[in-house]
Amino acid sequence: MSTAMMTMRRAAALGARHMLAASSSRVVPIRHMSADVGAAMEKIRAAGLLKTQGLIAGQWVDAYDGKTIEVENPATGEVLASVSCMGSRETSDAIASAHSTFYSWSKLTANERSKALRKWYDLIIAHKEELALLMTLEQGKPMKEALGEVNYGASFLEYFAEEAKRIYGDIIPPTLSDRRLLVLKQPVGVVGAITPWNFPLAMITRKVGPALACGCTVVVKPSEFTPLTALAAADLALQAGIPAGALNVVMGNAPEIGDALLQSTQVRKITFTGSTAVGKKLMAGSADTVKKVSLELGGNAPCIVFDDADIDVAVKGSLAAKFRNSGQTCVCANRILVQEGIYEKFASAFIKAVQSLQVGNGLEETTSQGPLINEAAVQKVEKFINDATSKGANVMVGGKRHSLGMTFYEPTVVGNVSNDMLLFREEVFGPVAPLIPFKTEEEAIHLANDTNAGLAAYIFTKSIPRSWRVSESLEYGLVGVNEGIISTEVAPFGGVKQSGLGREGSKYGVDEYLELKYICMGNMS
Ligand code: ADP
Repeated sequence: MSTAMMTMRRAAALGARHMLAASSSRVVPIRHMSADVGAAMEKIRAAGLLKTQGLIAGQWVDAYDGKTIEVENPATGEVLASVSCMGSRETSDAIASAHSTFYSWSKLTANERSKALRKWYDLIIAHKEELALLMTLEQGKPMKEALGEVNYGASFLEYFAEEAKRIYGDIIPPTLSDRRLLVLKQPVGVVGAITPWNFPLAMITRKVGPALACGCTVVVKPSEFTPLTALAAADLALQAGIPAGALNVVMGNAPEIGDALLQSTQVRKITFTGSTAVGKKLMAGSADTVKKVSLELGGNAPCIVFDDADIDVAVKGSLAAKFRNSGQTCVCANRILVQEGIYEKFASAFIKAVQSLQVGNGLEETTSQGPLINEAAVQKVEKFINDATSKGANVMVGGKRHSLGMTFYEPTVVGNVSNDMLLFREEVFGPVAPLIPFKTEEEAIHLANDTNAGLAAYIFTKSIPRSWRVSESLEYGLVGVNEGIISTEVAPFGGVKQSGLGREGSKYGVDEYLELKYICMGNMS
């Protein structure tokens, strides 16, 4: 069936109420903004990528009650756009659209699905600049990081376009000679994907790429802080020929949308990246309809610097692991454990490196540290620092809001942090590096594992036996050895303990969207 025909069929299925709100030609006005932000928004609009409505059955749709929410630029406080504020009714329609499209999308050949995904990849790369601008504007990350995220996010589409063609089943040697035993891998069905604000593009493509590759259809709920990137990416998916209804986007009232996804018997899988608290709710809520669940939740990453580390490598790696996206990633080094013999030397070199970080608006070329996402994030950082200093830690650099105001915070190093402090126990999700001294390898492993989280860990050592020993002892899903940036589409990403369930990316990533079907064929002799 052609894409246009599918669009018409889906739209008709949604009925009159829906169509009243649908409009594919809405011109989004550019609000009055500062010159650089206005120019960036104009560039995005001119490319046709400023979308503010939800996407249901291939139609851009307002919230049925007309409600909107404002998307703000955290660097300036300016309102960038108002987007549809949707809830359970729109989500139900999005699910219905994904469900009816599942039958046609899953029946396409892997090659056909692969081609559409590959086209989507090409379009994202072709619109790299506009997507990166959108991310910088609504999330705050520096343009260099935003461009990196476009490449990273797109890489999942390219990878899973290729992987779509390699989803093999099995033939099992039978136990009776007249039988033939087969295993098929089939798509789970409709997927509900709930994503966070810190990677507005990559957390979507990392889920939607494998889901579509396997033949699933998807309802995405991006974060309300960063819906514009998600909507632009969805528009490019339509342009790429991903059929109407295969990818739907709703945003607005998060608990309502979440509940509608959880309660639907048509949604067979929930995939979520976000806080541990919300992840637990979604896992519990999936029990009623026994959905498949994958969760990428909070981390509390240890970064262990041993006496035998190359100091330059350790400083460079821990700086990158800590301060990427101003400390707002779940794999950011949250606790830097430094062995006694190297503590002073490492601390002074690390502080020097931290002092060279440039805080500012992400649109400025020199910026390496953007603002935090909102005021609540800054208050959390302040609370953690107050807690640490009241218990004997010392601020070595930074430790306060940046003179730029807004939600800018000074890149900070706190010394002598211990395991009774919030900075040790919880994820600070901000530009604060706590240094924790330790004596022995055993103590470092004990401290590193002394948490319910288990996503990423980093170690710095020149000893090969130690790097093996410690990597094997760490209760974490990812370990970086002498390297602070380790995520890639070709490797499995995911946590153990309360950091989550399942793996994203790599050849293992498709397993989350597949069911095994065993077929026993009798009377075959
Ligand atoms: P963060 O603290 O990083 O924003 P959250 O877990 O609150 O992490 O948010 C991650 C995603 O989960 C966002 O898209 C958010 O809107 C969504 N979310 C928050 N609460 C719920 C909920 N009760 N049900 C479904 N989704 C939710």
